Amino acid sequence: MNHTSYAALFHGPNAPWEIRSAVIEPPQDAQILVRVLACTICGSDLHTISGRRQAHTPAVLGHEIVGQILAFGPRAPRTDAASGHLQINDRVVWTIVANCGKCFFCQHNLPQKCQEGYKYGHQQVSEAKCWHGGFATHCTLLSGTHIVKVPDAIDDLVAAPLSCATATIAAAMRTSHLVEHETILVIGAGMLGLTACAFAHTHPTQTLVCIEPDEHRRMLAKNFGASQTAPPNSLMLNPNDSSFPMGFDAVFECSGTNAGTLEAIRLVRTGGRIVLVGAVFPSEPAPIVIEQIVRKQLSIHGVHNYQINDLLCATDFMEKHNKKFPFKELVQHAFALDQIQQAITCAQDPQNIRVAILP
Ligand SMILES: [Zn+2]
Ligand SMILES: [Zn+2]
Repeated sequence: MNHTSYAALFHGPNAPWEIRSAVIEPPQDAQILVRVLACTICGSDLHTISGRRQAHTPAVLGHEIVGQILAFGPRAPRTDAASGHLQINDRVVWTIVANCGKCFFCQHNLPQKCQEGYKYGHQQVSEAKCWHGGFATHCTLLSGTHIVKVPDAIDDLVAAPLSCATATIAAAMRTSHLVEHETILVIGAGMLGLTACAFAHTHPTQTLVCIEPDEHRRMLAKNFGASQTAPPNSLMLNPNDSSFPMGFDAVFECSGTNAGTLEAIRLVRTGGRIVLVGAVFPSEPAPIVIEQIVRKQLSIHGVHNYQINDLLCATDFMEKHNKKFPFKELVQHAFALDQIQQAITCAQDPQNIRVAILP
């Protein structure tokens, strides 16, 4: 093997992108070399690029990746997380964090918080020979990465977000312990919120409402299963309203805003559950009245990334339901790797839920 790989290096907010090349080395030990088929630009990439989120540079960003296996290192696993056989040319996604399996957090079912973990698309480039992010033609998977084969029914552009947005929502659903015929509220209709609507819709729900300020996104939420949508602060709890008289049984906060969390606390029913998913960048403190949490007997869970089974669940969900909900239409624009700046500018437009890089 002796061809060249290319990566778009991030040097910090406002610094120009650098396209760097490297001669590809065969994968070592337990590494697996994949060709990046598509990488969608996640909201957290945009937070890093704008400087809202700290990053060590230079870095190869991009972590919503679908790839194709090109080569196995001599000790690389030949089975995926579902015990399926892995071979050259398989289309795959993988856990966002390669984890050690032995540390405190790995032992406590939090592999995404592994103390020895490597987070794809987030870390400083350490060696020039291989890349570990999606804004590159190739990505080298490290030991401790849990790989999931992508079923043929899932298009590349729909598969790319599996390893971040989709799996995170699978984790949020698991955490929420939904049961049948509940009233569900999703706050925010970006990629996380729309995916949450789709997941929730596949449960038999009593009602599924989505709160979102943008009219276009509210329309999308309807296409992803919301029975009702509303702008923020417009829903009032009314005991005479049969759809959610007491408030919502479960609320998924996907907007990442303080206002969204305050709205969640206002609209959740007494004894209800709130899952906070969206707030993944530093923000101002929110004026929360703790007494409300106590008096309403709320359960509030933060969910950041996911466990391996959540990625399997996300892939299974997408195999079954990707035609039922217009996931593919959420990726309206795609760019080549050397158009990275145009791709980022496009992704920063709130009208675009996801923008893809096709390296
Ligand atoms: Zn992400
Ligand atoms: Zn660990």
